[in-house]
Amino acid sequence: MRYDDSPPPPESAASVSPDPPWYARRSTLAVAVAALAPTALAGWVLTQVLTGSGPGGQPPQPKALPASHTTGAGARGAGDAKASTATPSPAAPDSASASASTSAPAAPAKGPLAGRTVVIDPGHNTGNFKHTSEIDRQVDIGTNRKECDTTGTTTNSGYMEAEFTLDVSRRTRALLESKGAKVVFTHDADRPWGPCIDERARIGNEAKADAVVSVHADGVSAGNRGFHVILPATVKGGAADTSKIVGPSRDLGERIAGNFARSTGSAPANYLGSGTGLVVRDDLGGLNLSTRPKVFIECGNMRDAKDAAQLTSPEWRQKAAEGITNGIVGFLGG
Ligand SMILES: [Zn+2]
Repeated sequence: MRYDDSPPPPESAASVSPDPPWYARRSTLAVAVAALAPTALAGWVLTQVLTGSGPGGQPPQPKALPASHTTGAGARGAGDAKASTATPSPAAPDSASASASTSAPAAPAKGPLAGRTVVIDPGHNTGNFKHTSEIDRQVDIGTNRKECDTTGTTTNSGYMEAEFTLDVSRRTRALLESKGAKVVFTHDADRPWGPCIDERARIGNEAKADAVVSVHADGVSAGNRGFHVILPATVKGGAADTSKIVGPSRDLGERIAGNFARSTGSAPANYLGSGTGLVVRDDLGGLNLSTRPKVFIECGNMRDAKDAAQLTSPEWRQKAAEGITNGIVGFLGG
């Protein structure tokens, strides 16, 4: 079905208002300190000259900017989390465990998402093209049987959806981890194909994820533009029972849609969803088999030149990750 002339973004998650970005806070602080410090020092010197007596010879020290305000503040995501590992350990670790610190997750996470688990599912796999027999086999999605996985689409110039989904997922992970979340991937280009859609759902379930987002981009004819978020329908059959997740998944999806529109400037899809950016489906195994709040996001249409120009831009993908992250933060009340 096609809908032309889509209405403007719904801004369905207008209540979500993330903190000002770090660079805005830093510039304000730096300007304030830079302006005040010389003034305070000059004022003290003038006082000493005029009165001829100090309170004890200890001049006030203008507060120097800590190094982190002028360098290194641009480190994002996992870098921030690793920087907070200075908590003393109650027992001296042996040398073997100490040497694992570079790959071990940071000690107690801090931030609005501390204690929360988010599963990110990078749609498809760049190796699926070479493993068609494996991904074509049917798996049980409760209500039906369906292919294990699909290859995904590409832009006309050959940028693969699976490359796109992995990149946006990694950017999202860095942002979520910087807010204290534990992030689990369904895959991280660490396997030749898949996983199958039933395994993707199972990973979210077994992680007891507080939210699950499956990242995709669409592949429909040119002229169809914009993003949409796919919400689970109420289904019951076999291992599928979405009755408990339909409500919270809609909340999650609405918040992601609103934040994604705001962050990227993209409009909701003009070819489905009646301009809301939201679509309910009952045929996706990854949703039907989920027991945790879960949505898919189709970030744009890879087959449309204007959408593809955005999807192939690293800067735009960062905005996409920020929109997804802000939606999750809003959903989790961070
Ligand atoms: Zn896809």
